[in-house]
Amino acid sequence: MFDYLIVGAGFAGSVLAERLANGSGKKVLICDKRPHIAGNAFDYYNDDGILIHKYGPHIFHTNSADVFEYLSRFTEWREYQHRVLASVDGMQLPIPINLDTINKLYGLNLTAFEVEEFFEKLAEKCDVIRTSEDVVVSKVGRELYEKFFRNYTRKQWGLDPSELDASVTARVPTRTNRDDRYFTDSYQAMPKHGYTRMFEKMLDHPNIKIMLNCDYREIASQIGYREMIYTGPIDQFFDYRYGKLPYRSLEFKHETHDTETFQSAPVINYPNEQAFTRITEFKYLTGQEHRKTSIVYEFPQATGDPYYPIPRKENAGIYAKYKALADNAQNVHFVGRLATYKYYNMDQIVAQALTEYGKIVGMKRKEATIKTKSNEKVFAAAQTSNGASSPAASIN
Ligand code: FAD
Ligand code: UDP
Repeated sequence: MFDYLIVGAGFAGSVLAERLANGSGKKVLICDKRPHIAGNAFDYYNDDGILIHKYGPHIFHTNSADVFEYLSRFTEWREYQHRVLASVDGMQLPIPINLDTINKLYGLNLTAFEVEEFFEKLAEKCDVIRTSEDVVVSKVGRELYEKFFRNYTRKQWGLDPSELDASVTARVPTRTNRDDRYFTDSYQAMPKHGYTRMFEKMLDHPNIKIMLNCDYREIASQIGYREMIYTGPIDQFFDYRYGKLPYRSLEFKHETHDTETFQSAPVINYPNEQAFTRITEFKYLTGQEHRKTSIVYEFPQATGDPYYPIPRKENAGIYAKYKALADNAQNVHFVGRLATYKYYNMDQIVAQALTEYGKIVGMKRKEATIKTKSNEKVFAAAQTSNGASSPAASIN
């Protein structure tokens, strides 16, 4: 008899498995239909011995000290600041658009102050910013929008930016300085020995049993469990009662080249001519030294494994109906990117899972994160005197 059956061994499922076992002494069975743990963050050494991300580039970044400290229990880190170039008009230019992007693209020599005025002249006034088109056009105007965003977005989502929520392109800022980092979060680092190693440590507990190559529907009726944590697609759980929720898929084309370096940046985006959206060269991300190099192309697809929920009003309407069913489902918790239909990054999923664990044990996220079965009593006393502290994390 298990206390919990956890469906999916990605961030959502694995964080909850760790917390329930380590924090509450629960017996957990975690299953995944894939042949490995770590969900979309899965990485492994390919035949040439190069560490690659099977499901595309995963770069860890967060502003949450709690999340970073929590994950630091299971991994050391390698400091890493992500940088991306976009291939536009035959040039490779920094994206997010910054001062250097504009100067290189137009052969100018503007200062940060002048580029601000430059953007102001190009920007189209927009009273209410509703769509992903509005976000960009209202900041940098139509020409830059068309060069960097319109076609990339159409390719990636199969929709025009005007059909997508503002939140999608709002992920990519516009800068007037020369900061060419993709993210500005306070914690930016890669697990020193890879994501899969980090997940192995997270799940290494006598109360956690793992079943791979296993769709929960094959076992749910045959094993005993009290509650379920479900991290798969929410529409599938309810047998598509309200129709299919659209998820965007990708095809990954992995290659290894007999050369030390393939491209001049960790990721190069191809907004316009190509069928793929970007090429990632993994050695930049992992810091691995090797005489060969491995890359991956991402080709967006309508069908296939669900990778991205598609943020737009129509889909939010369908999701709301499924969420109402989920809220009424007895003893099932819906957590994660697919089960809550949220375009969340890894750190947001960790935070969501820790919050859910907090709800289960009746604690705030911060407290739930540091709870262990053995410190239960000390912890309860500390809680009343408000003296809880969190472990320190370090970047190596
Ligand atoms: P998943 O990792 O999808 O895990 C869900 C698991 O459930 C899967 O392993 C699946 O096989 C399993 N499952 C589903 N149905 C069943 C079933 N019926 N039975 C058994 N198992 C089932 N985030 C970042 O922070 N930084 C990045 O750079 C970044 N890059 C990304 C790049 C790509 C191409 C993609 C697709 C995502 C990226 N993300 C990134 C987002 C990140 O992958 C997610 O936030 C995170 O992995 C979500 O974790 P999860 O546990 O919710 O879902
Ligand atoms: N985007 C774009 N051009 C770019 C980079 C991003 O149009 O060069 C848009 C596109 O719609 C993309 C979204 O911004 O899906 C978010 O980009 P991000 O790099 O965050 O996507 P992810 O890494 O999640 O695939």
